[in-house]
Order: sequence, then structure tokens, then C-alpha cells
Amino acid sequence: MVTAMKIRADRDVCIGAGLCLMTAEEVFDQDDDGVVVLLTPTPAPELEEKARRAVRSCPSGALSMEE
Ligand code: SF4
Repeated sequence: MVTAMKIRADRDVCIGAGLCLMTAEEVFDQDDDGVVVLLTPTPAPELEEKARRAVRSCPSGALSMEE
């Protein structure tokens, strides 16, 4: 069985650094205030590694994931 990853983005914790979308623009965006917008909490398999890197790159701890 394949278990998909599930990403969470806490918009109250995000400091708008933008690293996540620079790393995985298919998964993350920013709103007009610079706060993260999660485009897809369950990225396609080919995007999972990028999404993982983005979660690790977040300086504020706003991003987390379950696998
Ligand atoms: S990397 Fe973290 S702090 Fe920066 S925009 Fe993304 S969620 Fe927010």
C-alpha cells in the first residue's frame, strides 16, 4: 500500500520568508500579505521530495508533514 504524505501549513506561524515556494512552487504559494498558502496538502508522488525539502527549509516551523 502506498501512503501519501500530508502537509500542514500553520498560517499563524508563517513569517513570510517565502522559502517554501521557492523550493516547491507547485505545492506552496503566498498570499498578498506574504503568508503561505498551501496549494495541495497531498502532493503528487513526483513532488514529494521537493515538498519534503520545502518543509525542512521553513525557518519558522510553520510547515509540518505526516507520511
Ligand atoms: S518557508 Fe515557512 S515561513 Fe517561509 S513562507 Fe513558507 S511557511 Fe512561511
